[in-house]
Amino acid sequence: MIIGQNADIYIILKKMSYRIGSGVDFHQLVAGRDLWIGGVKIPHDKGALGHSDADVLLHAVCDAVLGALALGDIGVHFPDTDMAYKNIDSKILLKKCFDLVSAKGYRIINIDSTLCLQAPKIKPYIFQMQQTIASIVELTTGDVSIKATTTEQLGFVGREEGLVAYATVLLALK
Ligand SMILES: [Zn+2]
Repeated sequence: MIIGQNADIYIILKKMSYRIGSGVDFHQLVAGRDLWIGGVKIPHDKGALGHSDADVLLHAVCDAVLGALALGDIGVHFPDTDMAYKNIDSKILLKKCFDLVSAKGYRIINIDSTLCLQAPKIKPYIFQMQQTIASIVELTTGDVSIKATTTEQLGFVGREEGLVAYATVLLALK
C-alpha cells in the first residue's frame, strides 16, 4: 500500500510513464514490383521485394511501436509464412500495431524516421507519407518526422540493390 507523500510521487511517476522503441527494416529492390514507401506508391522502375507490399518505412515504424511495448517484432505478429499477409497493405499492419498501443493504454507522442535509398528522389512524397502515417496513428504531421538520405553510392543502398528504414517512437500513458 502506498500512503502519504509516497502516494503522490507514485501518481506523478505513473502519469509520466513513457516508453521508447526503435525499428529497422531492409528490403531488396527488384524489377516487376511496386515501390511502396510510407504508405505511398512511388513511380520507379524497381520495387521492394517482400511477402507483404514490402513498405520498408511502415515496417520500421511497426517494429518501433512493437519494441516500445516489448511485444517482439513484426515477424512474430505477421509471419511471412502466413498467406493472410501475402501482398497485404502495410497500412493495415501499422493500424494493428497502433491498436496494440491503445489496448495497452498508451498513445504515440511522436515518430522520427530515416529512409536510406539512392533513387528515386522521395522528397516530393514525404508530406504525403507523413499525412498517411499520422492519420493511422492519430497524430498530426508535425509529430511524424521522415528524413531521407542516400548513402553516397556506398554499399547495397548505393548500388540501388535495396533500401533501409530506421524509426524511433515515443509512447506515453493515455
Ligand atoms: Zn519489411
